Amino acid sequence: MKKVHSLTGMIDLIGSKVGKNNIADKIFYTETILKNIFESYSISEIRTPSLEDTNLFKRSVGDTSDIVNKELYSFLDKNDKSITLRPEGTASVIRSIIEKKIDNESHKLWYLGPMWRYERPQKGRYRQFNQAGVEMLGYSEGLAELEIVSMICSIIRKLKIEDPILKINHLGDRDSKQKFCIALVDFLKPLATKLDERDLKRLDANPLRILDSKNPKTLEILKEAPKIKDYLSNKSLGTLELIKSTFSNECNIEIDHNLVRGLDYYTGFVFEAVSSNLGAQDAFLGGGRYDDLCHELGGKELPAIGMAIGIERLASLAKSIEIPKTLVSLIIISSKIEPKAYKIAHKLRSISKSINIDVQLSDGSLKSKLRRANKDNAAYALIIGEEELESETVIIKPLLDKNSEQTVMSFNEIESFIKEID
Ligand code: AMP
Repeated sequence: MKKVHSLTGMIDLIGSKVGKNNIADKIFYTETILKNIFESYSISEIRTPSLEDTNLFKRSVGDTSDIVNKELYSFLDKNDKSITLRPEGTASVIRSIIEKKIDNESHKLWYLGPMWRYERPQKGRYRQFNQAGVEMLGYSEGLAELEIVSMICSIIRKLKIEDPILKINHLGDRDSKQKFCIALVDFLKPLATKLDERDLKRLDANPLRILDSKNPKTLEILKEAPKIKDYLSNKSLGTLELIKSTFSNECNIEIDHNLVRGLDYYTGFVFEAVSSNLGAQDAFLGGGRYDDLCHELGGKELPAIGMAIGIERLASLAKSIEIPKTLVSLIIISSKIEPKAYKIAHKLRSISKSINIDVQLSDGSLKSKLRRANKDNAAYALIIGEEELESETVIIKPLLDKNSEQTVMSFNEIESFIKEID
């Protein structure tokens, strides 16, 4: 029968004990580290649905973004309502706090999950990918910026990310942004015939986004255009300098006044972390301040800043992924004693905090089970046969250190041993 294939740009992640794809292990490990870091900054988890009303993304991510223009996975449901698989996490978080009427308080939230964008798949770019994100809601420019950058430094340090550069910029406060946009529009209007359709749309809807154009003709025109940095207030410039000086010992931070982000809702401080080891798709996280989004989606005025991390890209950059757990493989030699011997596994699991105990469930010889334990990188094999059960002992065979001899321990001793290596 004809096989069914996965969809273009959508990948399976299978742990290395089953699949051969060791990026999956790196991804799962990276997710655990990120969750621990978020919790250590006292941030709470939020989970929102994968499907949302299409209007949510049109009104937040915006009409001038590639995401809304070309990449939404939108469908009509059975009621002819247009629904969309979320392309990013921020809009749903804001929708959720408005709906729960908690948009008048501050919140620190993190999320992790799949996102969907109908992009042209290539290395580091998928149609379904995973993002972890943090949203600091109800905090004005200041300490929240430092908190986000501190978190980025912790992630880079903990995962030993290769060759990271954190690019930062400021899109201006309301007053300076307005002045800059007027100057930019005044400069570009007479040249409008040279702009393509998308940039013309941006000129009307959100002129700042023209700075994100990929059209070489527009980029040439922009060389002579007014520059954001000439319009920034001292406070905005001070924010950039403060961030750079606070964290320059920890991370390579560059101020890049051409950095604007691909989504419409950003205001103020923006950033993107890149690494030369990623190739063409070089950003592994990005974000910024979005002080107007909550109000624009029908909620209260709520200043906010957030970031989104591309898990696949971050994991591919993580240099040394320690697999922190010790694996112990329990081999029961005779099927006659299985239930009794199994009780030992159950007991050991109840007393161990971080050791993984793999009970080999399938039939097979001692030799084949030891082969399996070695393949799984188990540190020890615990072997129980009829004789051992009778004498209430277990054979312990160290597998990683080939020079160590196997020993026999009593049931009590094995419990102490597990506690010792835990
Ligand atoms: P964005 O929401 O576009 O700011 O993206 C945040 C991060 O998500 C990026 O820096 C990438 O690391 C990651 N990312 C975005 N789009 C994709 C994609 N199609 N495939 C894999 N990762 C992605």
